[in-house]
Amino acid sequence: MNDYQDRDKKHIWHPFTQMRDWIAQDQIVIESGEGDFLVDTEGRRYIDGVSSLWCNVHGHRRAEIDRAVRDQLGRIAHSTMLGLTHTAAVDFSEKLLAVVPPSLSRVFYSDSGSEAAEIALKMAFQYWRHRGQADRTHFVALRESYHGDTIGSVSVGGIEIFHSLFRPLLFHTYFAPVPARRWNEEGVSAEEKMRASLGEIERIFTSEENKIAAIIVEPLVQGAGGIIVHPPGFLRGVRQLCDAHDVLMICDEVAVGFGRTGRMFACEHEGVSPDIMTLAKAITAGYLPLAATLAREKIFEQYLGEHSECKTFFHGHTYTANPLACAAAIANLEVFEKEKVLEKLQPKIATMTELLAPLKNHPHVGEVRQCGFIGAVELAGDPAAGRPYSTGERMGARVCAEARKHGLLIRPLVDVIVLMPPLGIEDANLRRMIAVIGESIDAVCGGRK
Ligand SMILES: *Cc1c(COP(=O)(O)O)cnc(C)c1O
Repeated sequence: MNDYQDRDKKHIWHPFTQMRDWIAQDQIVIESGEGDFLVDTEGRRYIDGVSSLWCNVHGHRRAEIDRAVRDQLGRIAHSTMLGLTHTAAVDFSEKLLAVVPPSLSRVFYSDSGSEAAEIALKMAFQYWRHRGQADRTHFVALRESYHGDTIGSVSVGGIEIFHSLFRPLLFHTYFAPVPARRWNEEGVSAEEKMRASLGEIERIFTSEENKIAAIIVEPLVQGAGGIIVHPPGFLRGVRQLCDAHDVLMICDEVAVGFGRTGRMFACEHEGVSPDIMTLAKAITAGYLPLAATLAREKIFEQYLGEHSECKTFFHGHTYTANPLACAAAIANLEVFEKEKVLEKLQPKIATMTELLAPLKNHPHVGEVRQCGFIGAVELAGDPAAGRPYSTGERMGARVCAEARKHGLLIRPLVDVIVLMPPLGIEDANLRRMIAVIGESIDAVCGGRK
């Protein structure tokens, strides 16, 4: 008998979930996974089209990663990083630093992307204290940005529906406009939107000269904000402004890092070296919670001093750099190397582009966006008239519910259907996934002519 669903509904409070709907509706209980598939307690198989929330890389139950975690378990499951170190953290740090932009030389571990952002903000703030610039207490972020759910990371978040309620608890942040044109925005070009955003960042940096500690950006793609793809040159433009005004640049690669954009890190597309970078999600190939905040040596050096100078970075979590997670993270990078994952990804990116192209002309699709192996199909009531669906219609959720009936698990961002398959997805499963999305849009929104 399968009573897991009832027991869940009795005891669990799910994240980002309207629990009244959750309890009212039939839910899927996952029991196992295998490659690109999740398997539920009824034995039904679903393509994991969200990579278990954007973090699975090589599929579920990858033999090499399973083995690495098991081997680590045979040595030790956990030991602290406060006053001790361990072999898995040292081995992983070396491997990680060999693949990130060369400006970064120090790894500070934590357990989630939110914490990694929190640490980046505190690290930047304290850095300026040590440099004798105590007025650099503010941050700049982009509207519609998402850096996590803790109070600090929410303070630099720009998604009204998630973040505005908490404003009274948050520190003040300067927000610059999104540097991308919306599909139904009239009378402006992508280029103008980018220049307007960079212009506002420059204006803030200038009017608040010597008061800004750092700017935090999601490089290339603002994920949770709706898969907003930035025009080329934006990230480089931000880097140039940071250099000109001596502001630290924090790149949040939590969603886009580890191959998602077709390169190991999104910054590489623009030849940008951040001062601080945050990583989480795919860092362990979707196996275990681990995050890292990476810093330049010049930041690290400002923290060195006599104990009495109080230059220590007083931050750390109990499970910082958990050894099992580090073991999975090492095995993740080994699979990247051994299997030439990035090389094999390029034709899959091309397949996604090719198969999504026909949806551009769908009578209920406003726009199709893609960056590397991230795809987005934005539904719209009347694309020709520039009219989106009203939020109450919940078309995104309905399309995703329809897809489930056909063996595909995906999650929308309002009316944006998000494609975030594991990088290792088999060609046939990728094709199946995009076919199901097209058919589900037809079924829910009305078909193609
Ligand atoms: C998911 C995400 C985070 C938060 O990571 P958690 O591990 O969920 O706390 C931060 N930044 C970006 C860009 C993300 O996509």
